[in-house]
Amino acid sequence: MDSKELEKINRFTRREITEDELYTFSVILCDNEVDRDMERFSDAALEVMKETFLGKTGIFDHDTKGRNQSARIYDTQVVSVPERVTSYGAPFKQLKASAYMIRTEGNRDLIAEIDGGIKKEVSVSCAVERIVCSICGAAEGKCGHQKGETYDGVMCHMILDGITDAYEWSFVAVPAQRGAGVTKRYKGNKKGGKTMEQEFVPIQTQEAFETAVSERVAAAVQQTEKRFEGWVSPEAAAALTKERDDSRNVCLKMKIAAEKGIPLELAEKLSGDTEESIRADADSLAKYVVHEKGYAPSPIFTGEQTSSDPMTQAYQELITVLNNN
Ligand SMILES: [Zn+2]
Repeated sequence: MDSKELEKINRFTRREITEDELYTFSVILCDNEVDRDMERFSDAALEVMKETFLGKTGIFDHDTKGRNQSARIYDTQVVSVPERVTSYGAPFKQLKASAYMIRTEGNRDLIAEIDGGIKKEVSVSCAVERIVCSICGAAEGKCGHQKGETYDGVMCHMILDGITDAYEWSFVAVPAQRGAGVTKRYKGNKKGGKTMEQEFVPIQTQEAFETAVSERVAAAVQQTEKRFEGWVSPEAAAALTKERDDSRNVCLKMKIAAEKGIPLELAEKLSGDTEESIRADADSLAKYVVHEKGYAPSPIFTGEQTSSDPMTQAYQELITVLNNN
């Protein structure tokens, strides 16, 4: 590493970092080829992202088990690949980033994985102000052209232009379902690859929260009820108590995750045995979760109606536990 490189890195560090402490690598953030959604970044957008992604921290699989599972971009460049032409006949360009990590005991395995080429998929998300039709240049939806349709032998796609902000970049373990029905949920001006932001719909109503949680809670209740049928030995009772505590713990994690705006899929990854420790872990994870404008934390349940059905009662009991914890 030359001194210039080290200088660039040290612009982002709180103290002077030496070369021995550093691990650096490069990643391709995005390019100007049409993606599977029939969208692409304009060359100008790549140039803007070159600036906006500078200094941005990326995370690995949204994994917060270790404290140092993140890397920061310290240099970016738009690289032309002369031997490659895009599907629409322009020179192929990539936005390449150099990132660094501080070597620690905790990220040794991760560094080995990056070195071994395992964690190579990167996704980015950013705000796009302007999306235009590739055929006529009109704003998306303002012309009769449909992306994916061919007009006089030219395939229509949408050009993402006018980048206003970069939100995050992340490593994803090569997803098995890549390209197979991944739903984009960004609204308006968000654009990215497979990111947490897009796979996660913020829970904004009690109904949505109920839907998200009830399945898991119901399954837990059913399982426990089944075990309680008939005689229960002291050993079995102890095991069941533990099981109940475990599912309470899971519920608590989901509740805290919902409050903090963390995707429920990640809730079980939160660590901690007490509400306090789970909250602390959730707080550190929440920093990596980016929300759409207008996001509001999940509401707390209000008065549940009582039911004569024992299953429903058990369900309501769990919900109460979940709320009072
Ligand atoms: Zn058009």
